[in-house]
Amino acid sequence: MHTLDLVAPTTQELVSAGLQLPVMEAFYTIQGEGRFTGHPAYFIRLGGCDVGCVWCDVKESWEAAKWPVLSIEKIVEDALAFPGRLVVITGGEPLMYNLDPLTRLLKEKGFTTNIETSGAHPFSGNFDWVCFSPKKFKKPHPSIYAQADELKVVIYNKSDFAFAEEHANMVNADCELRLQPEWSKASKLTPEIIDYVKNHPTWKISLQTHKFMDIP
Ligand code: SF4
Repeated sequence: MHTLDLVAPTTQELVSAGLQLPVMEAFYTIQGEGRFTGHPAYFIRLGGCDVGCVWCDVKESWEAAKWPVLSIEKIVEDALAFPGRLVVITGGEPLMYNLDPLTRLLKEKGFTTNIETSGAHPFSGNFDWVCFSPKKFKKPHPSIYAQADELKVVIYNKSDFAFAEEHANMVNADCELRLQPEWSKASKLTPEIIDYVKNHPTWKISLQTHKFMDIP
């Protein structure tokens, strides 16, 4: 007769299962971009990204190992400390992780769940709103196109308009389409985006209003 040795799962196994996740920061603020602009929201920024955008404004998020690994229970408990019940999961690239357990728990606790993703990894999680922001630096995974409620393309140079149209042709017909000037180039690009949207009215403009309000 053999005795079963019960071996506790390693942190890596718990992260793979989506039961623990590296959290770079979590904070309660106002959503500044896209469809939910102006809504109070609790942001959960997961650590880790392998997309490598040259203009990334959160490069410190790239290395997942730099950030504390928290249980999903702790992540949700921290979110419950604030009155808002809208959560935005962002990164880094949040779809590097299995988001099924975290979003299941958030929904059990009454949260509306949003994600902001480049779509570079297979889709997971139960989301009320999926903001898909594809990047030229790493091709999106095909699973994102059917899930996207909003396509938000950052415009950094003129060739990004064609990139935006290429992705607009791949999302569902009811997906909302937005163009957003990259912050450091906004003064130069915003007039071009205004002209583009006036001539291509399926698109709307998204601005990073949190930067104007000087909030995270
Ligand atoms: S996907 Fe986001 S976090 Fe990753 S490099 Fe690009 S802008 Fe930065």
